[in-house]
Amino acid sequence: MIRQFELVERVQSYDPDADEDMLNRAYVYGLKKHGNQLRASGDPYFSHPVEVAGILAEMKLDTASIVTGLLHDTIEDTDATRDEIAGLFGENVARLVDGVTKLSRLEVQSESTKEAENLRKLVLAMSSDIRVLLVKLADRLHNMRTLHHIKDPARRRRIALETMDLYAPLASRIGMEKVKRELEELAFAELNPDGRASVLARQDYLRERGERLVPQIEVELVKTLKEGGLKAQVSGREKMPYSIWRKMQSKNVSFEQLADIMAFRVIVTDVTQCYQALGLLHGRYQVIPGRFKDYISVPKPNGYRSLHTGVIGPLGQRIEIQIRTEEMQDQAERGVAAHWIYKQGGPSTDAPQYAWLRSLIEILDKAPNAEEFLEHTKLEMFHDQVFCFTPKGKLIALPKGATPIDFAYAVHSQVGDTCVGSKINGRMLPLRTQLTNGDQVEIITSKAQTPSPTWERFVVTGKAKAAIRRFIRTRQREQYLQLGKSLLDKTFHEEGYEVTEKGLDGVRANFKQATTDDLIAAVGAGLITSREVMTAVYPGLKQPQRKDGGADVVPISRARNKAAADAAKAKKDAAGGQIAIRGLIPGMAVHFARCCHPLPGDRIVGIITTGKGVTIHTIDCATLESFSESPERWIDVGWDSVSEGAPGIYTGRLKVTVANQPGSLSKLSTVIARHEGNISNLRIVNRSMDFFDMVIDVEVNDVKHLANITAALRATPAINAVERARN
Ligand code: MN
Repeated sequence: MIRQFELVERVQSYDPDADEDMLNRAYVYGLKKHGNQLRASGDPYFSHPVEVAGILAEMKLDTASIVTGLLHDTIEDTDATRDEIAGLFGENVARLVDGVTKLSRLEVQSESTKEAENLRKLVLAMSSDIRVLLVKLADRLHNMRTLHHIKDPARRRRIALETMDLYAPLASRIGMEKVKRELEELAFAELNPDGRASVLARQDYLRERGERLVPQIEVELVKTLKEGGLKAQVSGREKMPYSIWRKMQSKNVSFEQLADIMAFRVIVTDVTQCYQALGLLHGRYQVIPGRFKDYISVPKPNGYRSLHTGVIGPLGQRIEIQIRTEEMQDQAERGVAAHWIYKQGGPSTDAPQYAWLRSLIEILDKAPNAEEFLEHTKLEMFHDQVFCFTPKGKLIALPKGATPIDFAYAVHSQVGDTCVGSKINGRMLPLRTQLTNGDQVEIITSKAQTPSPTWERFVVTGKAKAAIRRFIRTRQREQYLQLGKSLLDKTFHEEGYEVTEKGLDGVRANFKQATTDDLIAAVGAGLITSREVMTAVYPGLKQPQRKDGGADVVPISRARNKAAADAAKAKKDAAGGQIAIRGLIPGMAVHFARCCHPLPGDRIVGIITTGKGVTIHTIDCATLESFSESPERWIDVGWDSVSEGAPGIYTGRLKVTVANQPGSLSKLSTVIARHEGNISNLRIVNRSMDFFDMVIDVEVNDVKHLANITAALRATPAINAVERARN
């Protein structure tokens, strides 16, 4: 255990202004409070906070952080209170200790609490003061170093998993590569001891065979640089087992193929020399393509700067080389802590060189860019989700891609049904905006509002989808009822009859309808014709010859069972290969947009044009943008199930690039014909020495058919590129 005076000396060695008195008092206070509590290892409990303080001193942190390290478990594990700590060590320390305590409490609950909650609170704690996170990381580091003392394997595993998934990425995010590496290696040892052992064994074997390659390569690299007139420090190391293991997994390569078993670091005096060193090394050794990265001109978001490259080294081994200055090195190892400025009340981040730190704090603080934060911390476990807040701070977890409408339905279906607008982080934004992590979402509602069918195009949650569909069904039924009524009235009047409730009720059973309303709606939906109903009510009436199907015979089918489907198909065939789209008001004219050529199987949407009926577009059609301001014109449509796989009456449009050589056009048409497609139009849009770009219209059955043809074309040697044409 680090003794009191040792700790003070260590802190004073880098911070002459450290508050010696406070450090001493904190040491004694912690020692007394923890009394004779013991660790799982059997050591006195206080050895843990002291080690944590030691780690923080290695990071060269300020007095408040060191004191927080000493006291970090007192509120949780002893009778100490926040007030008492505030009285003795000031509000600043009390706030930090309190922050760490809150994080530790989460840890205890995290088996039952959602991981998301954990992450959110963590991020919030961090954004209030990053020192809370630094102390927490030091705490976790020491706990991981002593993990083997914990008896319960399930508990060890949970701690290791949490370290791997949450703390190591967080350490990386704030630039503390050294802490991240150690956390990962310790967690790896717990989570996959066999994997680690096999990497270690392999490393041992290669080491014996290679007779200590690292020092030899070091010498060679120094020589190469010196010959070029550059004095540099070169240090090599074998990569740690976990980092090798991860590369083997992600790149699916064997140990021997792996480039980065050895990594070398070249330290020079200034940035110019970094590039000089790079030039010398690239001039001398064969460069491995794709490995060069310039993080000096474009630093990583966490402030990391360095040149990276991979070469075939002096002894014929693939090696990784990092080139950087002393200052860059210090920052790479210590990250956010490297920029600590010892000032009362926390870090001063005004200086321009701390812009990255300010932006980090901003990212953590202001939510909109929290997505970026997640990206760089590689928290894959959360990648398929976004976490947003209500104005009151309640957390709502949604799938990635969720919109304010999903959010509204997640809050309450009433809110979803009546939402008219959304404020995201205080700004009015469209309801189809995709939410990002940390967004605060305020839903504006209006009693007059009802769900719009267009919403279904962009919502992602089942709850929202179901609610919108339910509403559309209800509204559709109303429309079918109205339409059915007017169709019946018209037909009956033409023959001099009157539609009566009694008359309909007497025949509804013939049509297998439970109520007269069902019967009327079925007429409206085009499942039954009004004439059929009339002849049922007045059997004496002669069934007239159907001429054109009449206004009430519509190409729409909402058929559910096979019999109805067959009937619908017959009807469709009778109507001359009419298009079957569901979701339309019967009788509406339908045509397909020329811009996107929708095919059965595509996701589609209808746009109402006055006097022209409905135009069907694919949902990703760029033309739809121009209708974004008039949502009332959008209608929700889909392909009727009977229309899929129907005979080839649809036109798909392909953009094809063909080699400009004899026979290639005939190959193209042969392939299409062989797959039962019919070319209805062909246009060359671009002709160069080597290639034709052309647009081909092909008659197909559905989108699958077109996809088959596309695949076959792609497999044809003379054809370079094939894609579905858009506009
Ligand atoms: Mn602790």
